[in-house]
Amino acid sequence: MSYTPSRQDFDHYMTPNYSPQQIIPVRGEGSRLWDQEGREYIDFAGGIAVNSLGHCHPVLVNALKEQGETLWHLSNVFTNEPALKLAKTLTERTFADKVFLCSSGGEANEAALKLARRWAVDHHGEHKDKIISFYQSFHGRTFFTVSVGGQPKYSQGFGPVPGGILHASFNDLESVRGLVGDDTCAIMVEPMQGEGGIVPATQEFLQGLRDLCDEHNALLIFDEVQTGVGRSGELYAYKNFGITPDILTSAKSLGGGFPVGAMLTTDAIAASLAIGTHGSTYGGNALASAVALAAVEFIDTPEVLEGVKYRHDLFREHLETINRKHGVFKEIRGMGLLMGAQMSDAFEGRAKDILPLAIEEGVMALIAGPNVLRMAPSLVIPEADIAEGMARLERAIERLVASA
Ligand SMILES: *Cc1c(COP(=O)(O)O)cnc(C)c1O
Repeated sequence: MSYTPSRQDFDHYMTPNYSPQQIIPVRGEGSRLWDQEGREYIDFAGGIAVNSLGHCHPVLVNALKEQGETLWHLSNVFTNEPALKLAKTLTERTFADKVFLCSSGGEANEAALKLARRWAVDHHGEHKDKIISFYQSFHGRTFFTVSVGGQPKYSQGFGPVPGGILHASFNDLESVRGLVGDDTCAIMVEPMQGEGGIVPATQEFLQGLRDLCDEHNALLIFDEVQTGVGRSGELYAYKNFGITPDILTSAKSLGGGFPVGAMLTTDAIAASLAIGTHGSTYGGNALASAVALAAVEFIDTPEVLEGVKYRHDLFREHLETINRKHGVFKEIRGMGLLMGAQMSDAFEGRAKDILPLAIEEGVMALIAGPNVLRMAPSLVIPEADIAEGMARLERAIERLVASA
């Protein structure tokens, strides 16, 4: 007899570091998912800003199938055509000249931070080792990236943390001025904080960081793991601001659901990653690269990017309509299809209570901290799915209000 896994099996077999919702989705198509019982859900969660083209998009399925029948993996003892095509297209479409490929956002940031430190040693000396990042920021779960991240609850309790890391307040240039100096190696920032609550940086803040980095010979690193690859309405969010970083990291939407990450930089900085200084067995994996190439080529078109901006307006209008009726949100914000709705004072800390109600009503969403309902749907979600998903979300919110 074949075995059908249950949600209880999660608690039985998996390490207890997650607490997934009770249903188990088994199939997806576009922005809809079905669970083991055949119940249907509209997906506003997008696998946490990963499923950039929804589920099983034909363009990605075809890329996966074709490459899957051709060549999967070689390691970096050899190079491969899909990796080279992906690197070429990323450099042609961004400020960057060089690309380091890996398998996740944390790894892309780990590479960025190690590169910045190595670059500083090469050009300025060992003393230039300070990395400045921001409270509430999130940069991954490796020990270096989680320490650079500004949420101590994620990095504490694991023994001594890597040194030379300073935290300033997001969107507060004065707090950065108090820390920056000629020993600053890099400033790492999300153009819009994702996990920290969907908080866009201001133009003045990012421009100020750029100026401070230039003044102090430090590198500006944009973590675009969550904002990248069309999510903001541009291929990368830095293009919305017209402010160019020295290093940019990408993952999540880059693979549309296939694990892949990339670190982008200039020729001059990349020179510090000399032979043997860094590496990854899976980095540049042919299957991952083929899927990412298909995703980038499909997403980085005027039609898809304009569509993201159009859908942003639809999401905002729907959320504002819900809020006019129920008064649950204090602020609705975001860029492109990365949206956050901050809970009003009466519902302080209750964003997570919406999620199981939404599941019961047939829509999946996310939170970003205890106070923000987050949405990161497919960049090509059909308008009808937005309308239906919002009707279901409104029913969930009605139930939250009724239970208050
Ligand atoms: C998700 C995320 C990461 C970590 O990516 P992983 O693929 O989970 O390692 C890093 N930075 C930002 C901004 C993210 O949103």
